[in-house]
Amino acid sequence: MKLALKTDDDNVIPAAHNTHVNSLLPSFLHSFFCFQFHFMASLPSVVIGNTTKLESEFKRRTANFPSVDKRNNCSSNSLDKAFDASNLDFTEIQSSSSTYVSLLQKCVQNNSFQQAQTIHGQIVKSGTQQDLFVMTSLVNVYGKCGAVEAARKVFDHMSKRNVVTWTSLMSGYVHNSQPEAAIQLWIQMLENGSYPTNYTIGVVLNACSALLDVKMGKQVHGYVLKYGLEDETSIGNSLCNLYSKCGGYLESAMKAFWRIGERNVISWTTIVSACGDNGDSAAGLGLFSAMLEEGIEPNEFMLTSVLSLCCTMHAIDVGMQVHSLSIKTGYEFNLRVTNSILYLYLKIGLLTEAKKLFDGLEKVSLVTWNALIAGHAQMMDAAESSLVASRNGFEALDMFLRLQRSGLKPDLFTLSSILTVCSNLVALEQGEQVHAQAIKVGFLSDVVVGTALVNMYNKCGSINKASKAFVEMPSRTLISWTSMITAFAQHGLSQHALDLFDDMRLAGDRPNMVTFVGVLSACSHAGMMDEGLSYFKMMKNEYKITPVMDHYGCIIDMFVRLGRLEEAFDFLKTMKMEANEFIWSLLVAGCRSHGNLELGFYAAEQLLCLNPKDHETYTMLLNMYVSAGRWKDASKVRKSMKDEKVMKLKDWSWISIKDKVYSFEADDKSCYQCEEVNVLLRDLLEKSRNLGYEWKENEEKPAEDKEARVHHSEKFAVVYGLLKIEKPAVIRVVKSTSMCRECHSFIKFVSVLTEREIMVRDGKRLHRFDDGKCSCGDFGVM
Ligand SMILES: [Zn+2]
Ligand SMILES: [Zn+2]
Repeated sequence: MKLALKTDDDNVIPAAHNTHVNSLLPSFLHSFFCFQFHFMASLPSVVIGNTTKLESEFKRRTANFPSVDKRNNCSSNSLDKAFDASNLDFTEIQSSSSTYVSLLQKCVQNNSFQQAQTIHGQIVKSGTQQDLFVMTSLVNVYGKCGAVEAARKVFDHMSKRNVVTWTSLMSGYVHNSQPEAAIQLWIQMLENGSYPTNYTIGVVLNACSALLDVKMGKQVHGYVLKYGLEDETSIGNSLCNLYSKCGGYLESAMKAFWRIGERNVISWTTIVSACGDNGDSAAGLGLFSAMLEEGIEPNEFMLTSVLSLCCTMHAIDVGMQVHSLSIKTGYEFNLRVTNSILYLYLKIGLLTEAKKLFDGLEKVSLVTWNALIAGHAQMMDAAESSLVASRNGFEALDMFLRLQRSGLKPDLFTLSSILTVCSNLVALEQGEQVHAQAIKVGFLSDVVVGTALVNMYNKCGSINKASKAFVEMPSRTLISWTSMITAFAQHGLSQHALDLFDDMRLAGDRPNMVTFVGVLSACSHAGMMDEGLSYFKMMKNEYKITPVMDHYGCIIDMFVRLGRLEEAFDFLKTMKMEANEFIWSLLVAGCRSHGNLELGFYAAEQLLCLNPKDHETYTMLLNMYVSAGRWKDASKVRKSMKDEKVMKLKDWSWISIKDKVYSFEADDKSCYQCEEVNVLLRDLLEKSRNLGYEWKENEEKPAEDKEARVHHSEKFAVVYGLLKIEKPAVIRVVKSTSMCRECHSFIKFVSVLTEREIMVRDGKRLHRFDDGKCSCGDFGVM
């Protein structure tokens, strides 16, 4: 989360300075005056003379002004009530310049260019357009209302200008994202012989920050040094901000900060977030406590800056202290602050704390909901087991329902993170509801949501719906093309994937690294060796993409599936990096299938070197030795498993039916007790055996009594799904660990016997069983 520091004119002004100024002045002129007061000490007398003159004249003109409430929400005087420039009867209003200035100020509050134009017309009619104050005010107001071109026109036609006029226009340019023009004007002003005020310098420094123009910024800094203004709070703050924004100038920012005579909370906030932005969060936290020691109370910007530092540093203790400090200083119900605290808690994984905070909130914004939902989605990825992950996922779904009930409308961010949650949960029904919701709130045309839908349908195993969502997208990005290509490849629809890749290139979109992973895996699924190798070449030569592990993995997978194991090993040797676990496990699986045990043992040992605690690899190696009849080696493996204290991952599977999730463990006792499940499981086992399904030796519980052996969790989940989900819906199961060969083979038989499509997403990949075949081509099992 990046923090945007507010650098509005009002915020740059140190509050203490305002006390000098007549409280009856309209607020925008406050700004000019308080800086001019400060200027007197350091600038040539001509300026001082001007300023004093301006000030006394202004006092005279504004003596009868109604006070303007700074909160902009008070309409306590008659002028406010009467004000609507479109039907204003100027004959009734005394057309003095002070009235115009006051009316113009109202236009800023209403952000109404039109009203300003109407008043402008009246000013011209009444012949007041020679009045420096009125016209300067007009320049300022046009700039603030987003009409800087109009401001420029007025400026160009003025016969007299003072520093306030120049500054107003500069400020208008910065306000309207034209910082170059502001800098041009600054140069012009100096050439014109006008002296800037502190405020002018602040504006030009902000322009430099916006342009990240540190060179120009340093020139202005030189000017500041020349006139000895470095210790001025507002100027110091702007300098500090400039060096922070430009990146890599943290030291200069620090210097500017320490030279400020009276550091206010804005100065401290600027330097603290500078530390965060420039990668020195620890220094930022140090400065924060230094500020507290000086007795300066933090404001909301400071609190959010510090909280984001805590996030980066995972400094939960400090974060909690900041939390209690925020309560003490009255920010308990400040949305920005509470959102930051919530975000921190979620980032660290303190879900209970986060929810407690959330439930105690008076008002909840969409940002808060989004933080909470995204936080839970993030926790899913970080969860230590898939069961915990699914709990977080369902928590997120629950949040989403509550959000909808609260009457707030989800936005793009909400929809895409909840769709990710549905994907990870393989919760198709919920995903479809979100799809409907996206249509309702009108975000369907958004490419981010469209892509998230494609991904969700793909992960939930519904390739037809994924491709429908893709086709319905009005525009496509690299990511959406890539998602769809990958989806086709994962579902074994290789030709579709390759055709789509051609479409993508025809549409003029440039594929990236990830796109090629999809393309290559499509080739490997279909055993299209020549095509695969030519795409690999195309990627390197035509698109100048350096192959990464995943690309090598696809090619090796391709060789392995075709039984060309020696070539796979040769290709592995050409890699510019050390092969990872995935590649070695592909080789192990291939060697087992094609009966090349020597290479298989070699690969399995490499795999164990990379991950000496991996239970699945041990089991695989064990099974390999057992099936080769090498009992001695098998017992060696058992011994080293004991020595290494290899922990078995808990085998869990779950299936979501309607709004509920049912989870199963291996040898699930409750399932044996459930007559329905037990009967169907036995029946399917019996029928499969008649069709040729064999129970091979299973190493986890070697026993003579076949019925006493372990049934892995997915068997129960699938059987339960068959009982509860009506045809022709697909049975979708998620499993925490990898499927074993035995269950894999069993479910292939089940798909024939029941004529159902069954999908199991295990710890490593997606298996889609249909009519006795699996989309993984039997290469994805232990
Ligand atoms: Zn199994
Ligand atoms: Zn499979």
